[in-house]
Amino acid sequence: MDQLPIYFNLTDRWVAVLGGGVAAARKAELATRAGARVKVFADRLCEEFDQLGPYARLTHVPREPRTEDLEECALLYCAAEDPAQNRKARSLARAAHIPCNVVDSPELCDFTMPSIVDRSPVVIAISTAGASPILGRMIKARLETLLPAAYGRVAAFVGRHRRKVGSKLENLDRRRRFWEQVLEGPVVDLVLAGRQAEAIAEFDTQLDAAAHGAEYRQQGEVYLVGAGPGDPDLLTFKALRLMQRADVVLYDRLIGEGILNLVRRDAERIYVGKLPQEHTLPQLEISRMLLRLAQEGKRVLRLKGGDPFVFGRGGEEIELLAQAGVPFQVVPGITAAAGCAAYAGIPLTHRDHAQACIFVTGHTKNGQIDVDWKALLQPRQTVAVYMGLAHLAELTRAFIDNGADPDLPAAVIDNGTRLNQRVLTGTIETIAKLAADAGLQGPTILIIGSVVRLHDKLNWYERGEGMGTAGASAAADPTAPRSLSAAESAISDRVGPP
Ligand code: SAH
Repeated sequence: MDQLPIYFNLTDRWVAVLGGGVAAARKAELATRAGARVKVFADRLCEEFDQLGPYARLTHVPREPRTEDLEECALLYCAAEDPAQNRKARSLARAAHIPCNVVDSPELCDFTMPSIVDRSPVVIAISTAGASPILGRMIKARLETLLPAAYGRVAAFVGRHRRKVGSKLENLDRRRRFWEQVLEGPVVDLVLAGRQAEAIAEFDTQLDAAAHGAEYRQQGEVYLVGAGPGDPDLLTFKALRLMQRADVVLYDRLIGEGILNLVRRDAERIYVGKLPQEHTLPQLEISRMLLRLAQEGKRVLRLKGGDPFVFGRGGEEIELLAQAGVPFQVVPGITAAAGCAAYAGIPLTHRDHAQACIFVTGHTKNGQIDVDWKALLQPRQTVAVYMGLAHLAELTRAFIDNGADPDLPAAVIDNGTRLNQRVLTGTIETIAKLAADAGLQGPTILIIGSVVRLHDKLNWYERGEGMGTAGASAAADPTAPRSLSAAESAISDRVGPP
């Protein structure tokens, strides 16, 4: 170990900062966050200092520091732009016997600054002893994704209840087992979800049981999680965390291999897949299964494609749980329309094209498309049709029969956000045949509206090797600006709200 990590108590101590630039402001901010008062020695302070807010306890001293200034400080940060000024202040710190950090000069530092993951009171510091701050930041980014943002609340909760546990469970071994059980169980979920009163009630139940030597039986819970349209990178942190906690997972056809592989390895997997026409398990059976598994004390993950509350029947699946008082949480996912549109370079709204966007299902009821045509065929509106592939020809015909312009641009995005994504563009009149000729298998979403024209310009995802091609794309937008400066002025010419 090249350096010793320590956590410095700076509450109400003075910290000196040399310099008035951005780097100095960052150090001043950190020190104030740790409860210090900060003296900034600089002719002028840059704007960043204004943003430190009214709580920052800063004193601006518009001159160079002297030894007696530093004697009353706990630390000195040298962040002046002039290296000579930094070196001079550093020797003063030596004379005043206070540790000193010189920004970007590890060889001059008594201490270096780690990358910090702040989940106060949990604070993780990562040091590379000055060798590679970038590597430190990359490790930090990884840890940030692992620890829920509210993790500090868990530590604070434990801190508040430690004494109570100590008095009820005298045996050290039992105490350790009890805390392991709490930290891996539903109490943590409740604390993270901000359900403090329920967390305390559950905690007290568990503690009483442990104090009476009773075997604790874990309370089951259901996580209804949206897994997004396919690209595993589009999962939320929370989805990933709950996927790693589950004892059993119920998944269907929309969940790809890449995502399923992120579920805890030893979790039991149950396929409840639904092909458009064949419902492997009727909805009620899925709901009953969720309930039964949770009542057995399992952490049950119900993984759904896209967002569970957008054409996902997520609401129906959890109704039974709500009735039975079984705890559940719902995690949103990126819905197919949003994910596919982004990966196809088709903005769902755009100031020049559409001010509204509507999501509908192309599912038919007794062979009839059951939609409100008046609401659908509004000008300057994008329509995203889910589940429309099976009846694409009838569906697009119905649009035209109900008054849509046959030349309205339309796109189908097949396997959106996945490696085999394909985007076909045409018009509402031609798109069904294009899709049929291409032999698309789905899942496929249909997007209708003039925003589709932007695909040629904004398509970023399929340009790479090995991607499907947008073979049937409409001709390039003839109104497209020819140069960057023309594009810039076209953008700045637009007025009005975003
Ligand atoms: N809850 C899901 C939708 C379920 S309905 C969500 O929010 O996305 C299933 C329909 O979603 C499919 O028929 C298709 O229209 C659409 N869909 C889901 N994933 C898709 C993908 N990767 N590419 C294209 N369409 C997709």
